[in-house]
Amino acid sequence: MPTDAPRTDAANADILVWQTGYRVLLALFAVGIAIGLSSAGVLTLSSVADATIGPVLAERVLSVVAITYVLLAVGIRTLVRRTRQASRTLATLMVVADLALVFGMVFLLAEPHDYHRGLLIALFSLQLTHVYFGHTSALLMLAAIAAAYLQLIDISLRVGGDVSWAEALTTLGIFGLGALLVTRVQSNLHERLANLVSIFERAEDGDFSLSYDVAADQRPDAITAVGRAYNRMRTQLASIVETDPLSGCFNRRGFEQQYRRELARAARTQTDVALIAIDLDHFKLVNDTHGHLVGDRVITETGELLRATARTDDVVARTGGEEFLVLAPNTSAAGGQALAVRLLEAFRRRTFAEPAAHIALTVSVGVVSDAVPDVSVAEALRARADEALYAAKRSGRNRVVLWSHSLDALRLGQPDDDVDTP
Ligand code: GH3
Ligand code: MG
Ligand code: MG
Repeated sequence: MPTDAPRTDAANADILVWQTGYRVLLALFAVGIAIGLSSAGVLTLSSVADATIGPVLAERVLSVVAITYVLLAVGIRTLVRRTRQASRTLATLMVVADLALVFGMVFLLAEPHDYHRGLLIALFSLQLTHVYFGHTSALLMLAAIAAAYLQLIDISLRVGGDVSWAEALTTLGIFGLGALLVTRVQSNLHERLANLVSIFERAEDGDFSLSYDVAADQRPDAITAVGRAYNRMRTQLASIVETDPLSGCFNRRGFEQQYRRELARAARTQTDVALIAIDLDHFKLVNDTHGHLVGDRVITETGELLRATARTDDVVARTGGEEFLVLAPNTSAAGGQALAVRLLEAFRRRTFAEPAAHIALTVSVGVVSDAVPDVSVAEALRARADEALYAAKRSGRNRVVLWSHSLDALRLGQPDDDVDTP
């Protein structure tokens, strides 16, 4: 079933502003031509209008309808421009005014057997309504068009107009069928466009997890092409937005995405995750001694080393200047501890910024591992990994501390003894 796409008032506002601009111009043009032609005697008043309200009143009605319509359109445009909000009520009011103008002019100027002209013109307004305001508004409008048309037929039959109910209902039936077909096709476009918009909005927030479902488009068209182009860009965009250029690891944004995803997976599969916080020891000294460029080089090499030492499923991120996080899915406390010690040793074995410098670096590492009942543990896990890291710093650096309720419980990776238990 086609559904109304979620649309913001701001989007409706933009649409209503440009549409009402066109409405005013078209209305002035149509009424101007009608008045001009009728005063030149080319266009005559319809027999039904003549018989019901007479030529003097008819001309007044035409002027009043036209002036009211233009004033209403200008008023709505000004209001919407000022407030940047277009409620459904305002949009509906504008569409009702369209119908009043179209069928008012048809009543005044067309003979009953030409009333279908009103339906034709209203179809244009119906389509615009559907494209911009959705399926429900379009169906309401379709009902209003049918009611207006039948009202005209009823009036003309009362004054002996040259039309029959059978003829009118046949015309209305054909119109209704065509209009429903058009709205059905439009609905499909509308839904797919709304889907694309929501994918783009997610991407705008840095979430590239959704792709456009190209296979679902039975008859590929321009929207499919846009979806396909987005899918091609998606991976590149995600990596630009989620990667820290200096270290080549995930940045904070990328880490958050991966973190939420992995925690949700761990909660589903009832597995533990380990979170490892790493901070380079006395890194300021590297900058002070060798300069920032060499410092940057060390950060780049640190990123490479962490990624090479972690497993492929682990998420490695640079979350601050010289601070990194490694998220290890499906990893118990013992596994997290082992990985942390491996990282610690990898740094001990390495020298950085070769051949320009020959820098030996150590790291302090905090580890926490826990079961994940749901993603709400995200903050607590981060805080515990940080606590363990600070404990490692406080107790002399170049070591691993595993978080426990009393942080003194386990200390691992002292320089002379990699596994230190209390
Ligand atoms: P600690 O052992 O307590 O962690 O000491 P530290 O010197 O590593 O820590 P501190 O927080 O005092 O200093 C961190 C330094 O990292 C200071 C800052 O200039 C440097 N830093 C942060 N980001 C970058 C970067 O992108 N490039 C370079 N070259 N240095 C950076
Ligand atoms: Mg540091
Ligand atoms: Mg730091």
